[in-house]
Amino acid sequence: MIPRIVVLSAPSGGGKTTIAKAVREKYPERFGFSVSATTRKPRVGEQDGVDYHFWERQRFLDEVKAGRFLEHAEYGGELYGTLKTEVERVLQAGRHVLLDIEVEGARQVREQHPPPRSVSIFILPSDPRVLVERLQNRKTESPKEMKQRIDRARYELHQAAAFDHWIRNDNLDEAVKDVVAVVEEKGRPRRTAQDLNWLNEYGYELQRIAQQVFDELRQGKG
Ligand code: 5GP
Repeated sequence: MIPRIVVLSAPSGGGKTTIAKAVREKYPERFGFSVSATTRKPRVGEQDGVDYHFWERQRFLDEVKAGRFLEHAEYGGELYGTLKTEVERVLQAGRHVLLDIEVEGARQVREQHPPPRSVSIFILPSDPRVLVERLQNRKTESPKEMKQRIDRARYELHQAAAFDHWIRNDNLDEAVKDVVAVVEEKGRPRRTAQDLNWLNEYGYELQRIAQQVFDELRQGKG
């Protein structure tokens, strides 16, 4: 087996972190996880060095200058990045390395390590309403942050076409199987015109639902 860099992206609330964890737990011999660095503060229950390396902004910028990142990007006003040492550690152990990152970082990874070295996967729940509900259920976000996240989800959807594969995340076991299958499959990614249509319609529907949410927020219900 030749270990690959596996990029998992999704709009916030798309469920990629759960999938990445499940893949690693189910196949610990074949998959490892890259722990990212970030300037954002830990959420309740998050541990330094496990969920993220939580760094001060200055330290992060120093490490960028020193060339320690494979990719980095800003998201919601905070910096996030994949450390080269994290990726190397997993690849050298002969395992695929899972990167749970946003779309700009995914683009940088694809550029530096085109397929087959990397494989990029975009994850979405089939129904855009589920996506919005997941965003709303995050108690850690204020209405303003919620609006930012929906705007961002719409932007991310526009970037989805550049990914090698799209996986619908309605059932965790199925999604885990799909991820493992595309990582270990040979040959070209399979994507049909029907998939593209589906993605377009998804974008329109998300826009419509997002508008409702904004209207509610403006009326002070959020
Ligand atoms: P959260 O703050 O909710 O943990 O993550 C916010 C976003 O940043 C998510 O889309 C997550 O996938 C992304 N992210 C986490 N780590 C990295 C990273 O190392 N690089 C990039 N580009 N994005 C990351």
